[in-house]
Amino acid sequence: MQDDTESQRIEDLWFDDGTLVLQAESSQFRIYKSILSIKSSVLRSILSQPQKETLEECPLVHLDDPAQDLTYFLKAIFDTEYVCNRLPLLTSSLIPFDRSFYEKATETEFPILAGVLRLSTKYNVKNLRQISLTHLTNIYPTTLEAWEQRDATRTISGDEPSPLAVLQLAKDANVQGILPAVMYRLTTHSVEDIFDGMTWNGTHIDTNETDRRTCLLARQTLITAKRRAIAAFLRSSSDVLSCTTRDPCNSGRLRAVFTNTDSAEECDPLWDHFDWETYASDVCSACLSASKTSYKNARTALWADLPGIFNLPTWVKLKASIR
Ligand SMILES: [Zn+2]
Repeated sequence: MQDDTESQRIEDLWFDDGTLVLQAESSQFRIYKSILSIKSSVLRSILSQPQKETLEECPLVHLDDPAQDLTYFLKAIFDTEYVCNRLPLLTSSLIPFDRSFYEKATETEFPILAGVLRLSTKYNVKNLRQISLTHLTNIYPTTLEAWEQRDATRTISGDEPSPLAVLQLAKDANVQGILPAVMYRLTTHSVEDIFDGMTWNGTHIDTNETDRRTCLLARQTLITAKRRAIAAFLRSSSDVLSCTTRDPCNSGRLRAVFTNTDSAEECDPLWDHFDWETYASDVCSACLSASKTSYKNARTALWADLPGIFNLPTWVKLKASIR
């Protein structure tokens, strides 16, 4: 006998001819054991064990996953309409659709992505993990070029998730490669946010002591980097040998120092918002060209240094972790 008075059937994932009932928290899903076993070697192993409980003549298996995560994960596997609409690339794994029809990843939402990534990692469903990582690295990339394009290429709709939620996901799903970008994003928040944690999607998320210390120290390093390296060209009047109008160009640089200065507390040295148009009208073409080169080189060097700033392995090792 089953005491399922508290249980709730998830309508979209309750197939009357299903052969297996999964339960997570109080949510129940009646799905197909053979399909799940093909998709996941880990679940195949779990489901091959003799099951003591049954429900409607199906084996009943309890999983210790959050019900919401399991809902997203199972929908990605079983509900093709959901898959087509929300994570179109996934269809290639389930039905022999023409891949080109779904080549471009369309938008998804962070909670869906997080649920699918966590469980596709845990249960070893490689293609779902791969698609999830594509969405995630669009917004937390490993190259400066991709970072500069992230607002145009992102496929996670709505407000950007709290970096603390992404940090947690990166650890849960073992995606170390996105950590420099995520931790960088965290340092753009205030000291109070980093210290006290932040509320996102109705849940308060705290930083652990190690991350808190790393991010607060990195934040100071990044503020200094902006002043000393990224904006160094504004203070390097004697470096441009081909400049023939030194005094007006120096005045132009000085004006740019004041018009482009952020508050001392602000930390986002890679935010690309320098007013080049005004600057171009204030300095000669030789100075403009030298300034742009210096600015670009400093940004490239800072991106290369990010893993070290956050006590992480090298970029080469981090990039290899994204698979
Ligand atoms: Zn000049």
